[in-house]
Amino acid sequence: MTEIQQLLADREIILPEVITGHVGGTAVAIDPQANRHAVYFPGTGERIAFLQEDNITAVTNAVHCARNSFDNGDWSSAPTSSRQAVFRRAATLIREHAEELALMECLCAGLPASHLASRQIPRAADNLDFFADYIGVMAGETFEQLAGYQTSVTRQPAGVAALFAPWNAPLALASMQIASCLAFGNTCVLKPSEFTPVSVLKMVNLLEQAGLPPGTINVVNGSGTVTGAALASSPDINRIAFTGGSSTARHVMAAAANQLTPVHFELGGKSANIIFDDADFDRAVDGSLVNIFSNSGQICIAGSRILVQRSIAARFVAAFVERTQALKVGDPLDPATEVGPMAFKTHWQRVLDHIAKAKLEGATLLCGGEPLTKLGDGYFVAPTVFQVNSNRLSLCQEEVFGPVVSIQIFDEDEEAFSLANDSRFGLVGYCWTNSLARSQAFRQKVDAGTLWVNTPLARDLRAPFGGFKESGIGRDGPRQAAEFFTEEKATITAIDKVPIRKMGETTNTDAGK
Ligand code: NAD
Repeated sequence: MTEIQQLLADREIILPEVITGHVGGTAVAIDPQANRHAVYFPGTGERIAFLQEDNITAVTNAVHCARNSFDNGDWSSAPTSSRQAVFRRAATLIREHAEELALMECLCAGLPASHLASRQIPRAADNLDFFADYIGVMAGETFEQLAGYQTSVTRQPAGVAALFAPWNAPLALASMQIASCLAFGNTCVLKPSEFTPVSVLKMVNLLEQAGLPPGTINVVNGSGTVTGAALASSPDINRIAFTGGSSTARHVMAAAANQLTPVHFELGGKSANIIFDDADFDRAVDGSLVNIFSNSGQICIAGSRILVQRSIAARFVAAFVERTQALKVGDPLDPATEVGPMAFKTHWQRVLDHIAKAKLEGATLLCGGEPLTKLGDGYFVAPTVFQVNSNRLSLCQEEVFGPVVSIQIFDEDEEAFSLANDSRFGLVGYCWTNSLARSQAFRQKVDAGTLWVNTPLARDLRAPFGGFKESGIGRDGPRQAAEFFTEEKATITAIDKVPIRKMGETTNTDAGK
């Protein structure tokens, strides 16, 4: 028995040898003819399971199931109080199973398990609770200004949604898509990343255990180019919500265009983290480390371009590099680990390629810059800091999605804002200052969907989240989700005997012309 098998056995967790999709409330049967992908533990490179790939026939079947489930009304016509109760029960179950879910996610994504159990898994429960609350206070609109009429505006669920989730925060992100979509009565077909299918399937089981009718969520598994492409081009989908890379989004949008399916995109970033000379220095150092090294750098909101004002630059660089070198990199199952491995081997290689290119392009390596092979066969990269003189380097323009950060010095505030905006992305931005005027200028001038002042990564679920430019289309958020996942309907009722034009009468003296 391997260490991982022992770990799972100790906790009575059953990981099937072949992971399949989940349709109509049950696991899809194993098909010996279907393609299979291996799923690896990034901490050691050990294979932990196989994933059975759903082809176009299997995807069509899942979409039909979601459609039938939508049409039968068990969920789409369920009273709000029933949907709230299911979400709340599921949130409780997720909290109760946090350790198990964290372990499953750690084994596929390699994210530090302690961080998963304490932050990301509870976040999945919070997302469900939040939407349960929101649908309880949502209201329609009524207009009475038109004399003799009452116009009411109501919403109904859009239908069947295709949800695409990435691998970098599988449950935290898939749960946001699921909660935003199901809260309003839709059904869905979810396509998790092929690298991290396990925890998502467990969460779907918990939702069904909480009372979600079978067929409301269906899961298809497999690669993006086979399973994902089949789902994106399905003619029977009413909405597509996609979280992933900007280049993949182009394929999804092209497929959606054939059916004119509305899309919601949460995509990549290359965000600036500006440290002004009047910042609380220690907090700025602490926050900047969290901004780039959380999730082992594999996070869309990474503050991957540090811009620091000249008068404090030398001190900041020294402190930041010292702390980076002290980060605990290693086994993601170890509670002490702060930075784990890259989630899969080709991504690991991609991060190393970015580092090699940065060196070639003349970025100055301050620390890291190499694979950590001394940690074994896992996909580890040493936390890496480069100093750069130009924002035009690939390192400053391409999303590395790993523990790699650039530091650039600026003089004037305006220069920092313009460097921040010199990007095809516009997801988030950070700034550290004690000046109200500077923080206001930052808010006005930096083009990004979320801006943080003097804090890393705090998120209020009531506020919209999403990106400018190539970082996305649309916003996550309660009102925004209601707009995307429902169809609005205006109903105009005559509340008086308002005159109607009498067409076809020979003596038409009616006033209602
Ligand atoms: P990805 O684009 O490779 O994959 C996302 C999903 O799309 C996966 O399920 C994948 O299998 C599927 N897919 C891939 N090719 C497809 C195709 N041709 N047709 C249909 N589906 C396809 O992204 P990833 O590597 O899993 O995630 C990392 C990216 O996600 C980064 O760019 C990151 O910034 C972004 N991200 C954005 C947010 C946000 O909220 N803005 C959050 C997390 C991650």
